[in-house]
Amino acid sequence: MQTIEYREGGVWLPECGLWLDPQKTQTGPLPVLVSHAHADHVRPHREVILSLPTARLVQVRLGGQRQQHVLEYGERRLFETNRGRYHLTLLPAGHILGSAMAWVETERGSMLYSGDFKLRASRSAEANETGPARGCDHLVMETTYGRAQYRFPSAAEVFKDVVRFCEETLARKETAVLLAYSLGKSQEVLCGLAGTGLPVTLHESVWKITQVYEQCGVVFPPYEREEEGSAVGRVFICPPQAARAGKVSRLGTQRSAIITGWALDPSCRFRSGTDAAFPLSDHADFTELVEMVKRVQPKKVLTLHGFAADFAQTVRRLGIDAQALSEHEQLELSL
Ligand SMILES: [Zn+2]
Repeated sequence: MQTIEYREGGVWLPECGLWLDPQKTQTGPLPVLVSHAHADHVRPHREVILSLPTARLVQVRLGGQRQQHVLEYGERRLFETNRGRYHLTLLPAGHILGSAMAWVETERGSMLYSGDFKLRASRSAEANETGPARGCDHLVMETTYGRAQYRFPSAAEVFKDVVRFCEETLARKETAVLLAYSLGKSQEVLCGLAGTGLPVTLHESVWKITQVYEQCGVVFPPYEREEEGSAVGRVFICPPQAARAGKVSRLGTQRSAIITGWALDPSCRFRSGTDAAFPLSDHADFTELVEMVKRVQPKKVLTLHGFAADFAQTVRRLGIDAQALSEHEQLELSL
């Protein structure tokens, strides 16, 4: 079995010389797997392995140049470093557009690294596929929602509530502000409003990312890019950070809703200071985490992020060896 370590905020395979999503920028001669383009994974590494959509999104977020190994999903590529050799295959993770799991094969064993993932169907991301990883030695998986209380309602149900919130707000001649992370969640929300006839305006940062999605072939319902005052009386999709910075005063009278998996926690709406909170997530909920383990049937599970220790215990109860890879992390309200 190969050695798997938690280092520099990510995963490190010393016998391959492979980094997976380290938080610290790597400037050395070893390649870094970038599972997807969320801000906590995007660093100016010297050499990266990623999918094409992720490469395009990283370019928009980071600019500059780097040595890139752009892999198609399912393409098995050999890497040789001064530490060892391995085959790496990217598999769709279903988290956001371009998100990838990494299937790593070496002479010592095999590992599936999930990165952030979900199994539920998505409107704007590729469907998750565990493919050849079944029966692997190690499954290294994120466990953000690794406690049994986190079970999401269907997206269709959530969108019914979101649409009602928007219609009621617009009927009062007010602006409906939907707070959603600019990459992934905003595009999912935009797709979820298709067919409703609601007039939608996108915050500049959401608009930029949405252009990359369109270049990658994702089709959206009509929307407008925000110009000064143009979102008044419409549905406005905006990242929470922008709202916190007080930049939405230009929107006139408004009602706001935060869109996050943490909306399952009753305190979420109060903590976010919004009028409503809707539980839509791009992560797996507890049920999906368990389903992932059952699909992959690994010899051992290593858990990362969120309720890592709790979920490792859940896996052991299923009769599969498991332990938390990361130190216990303080859970924060992640928007
Ligand atoms: Zn993510």
